[in-house]
Amino acid sequence: MRFKVYRLSPGQEPRIDTFEFEPVPGMTVLSALFHIQNNLDDSLAFRYSCRGAVCGSCAMLINGVPALACRTQVANRQSPTANRQLQQDESDSPARLEIGDRKSEIVVSPLPNLPVLRDLVVDMTRFFAAYREVQPFLQAAAELPVRENLMDPKKVAELEAYTNCILCACCYGVCPVVAPSLGPESKVQGPSPFLGPAALAKLYRFHIDPRDKPAAPRLGLADKPEGWWACRFHRKCQEVCPRGVPPTIAIGKARAELQRAGSGPDKDATKTRNTRRTE
Ligand code: SF4
Repeated sequence: MRFKVYRLSPGQEPRIDTFEFEPVPGMTVLSALFHIQNNLDDSLAFRYSCRGAVCGSCAMLINGVPALACRTQVANRQSPTANRQLQQDESDSPARLEIGDRKSEIVVSPLPNLPVLRDLVVDMTRFFAAYREVQPFLQAAAELPVRENLMDPKKVAELEAYTNCILCACCYGVCPVVAPSLGPESKVQGPSPFLGPAALAKLYRFHIDPRDKPAAPRLGLADKPEGWWACRFHRKCQEVCPRGVPPTIAIGKARAELQRAGSGPDKDATKTRNTRRTE
């Protein structure tokens, strides 16, 4: 099996290094990277933590699709979501987006839409800045209830669709709305104004939580051009999410709610687009 791995050291041009070895049965892409690091090139840098698809640290581009390396079997030669056709933004570095011949090789590169620090390690600052902007924590009423909050099981199930997020940024890496703002020299270019799918899904999660009693309406935090209204419903975030979180459903519901309240920076145009989409 041939592994092509994106490499970048500070101050140097990016390159693709090729490693060949026979994977053992059950080997994941993360295990393969450890094999390379331990036996072939100890300078390879990548991020990981739990190895169990829980921490979200090892998200990267595997054969052109954002996925968790710890959850991707080498034997399958593609991620669980790689059978879906995904078009990457061609303005990004060609080396980062090279898609391998899936029969014989695996191409691993860093998540797009985030600056590369080294090899497969990206700088998540702008992703978490957007996350912090939506105040991702429960804001309880000043007066605490005298007993526990009892919740309708249906509401719990609705919330769970969003609480499953592990902040891996696969959705952010695949989002075409995030991508163009980085420009053609996108490796180190400055921040995308779009809050991104994960942050908006998290904001909606607290909006629908009956225990959440913020001083100002939650949806208002993203009622701006770079918030709810920037999404173009490409839905790639949902295709790649390893936890099945549906950001575009959250965005669609939030926008509909805001429109009913007469809000939105471009509400007439948005209304027209949505009408056309449902025709
Ligand atoms: Fe990852 Fe899904 Fe959360 Fe996006 S929504 S950060 S893809 S778990």
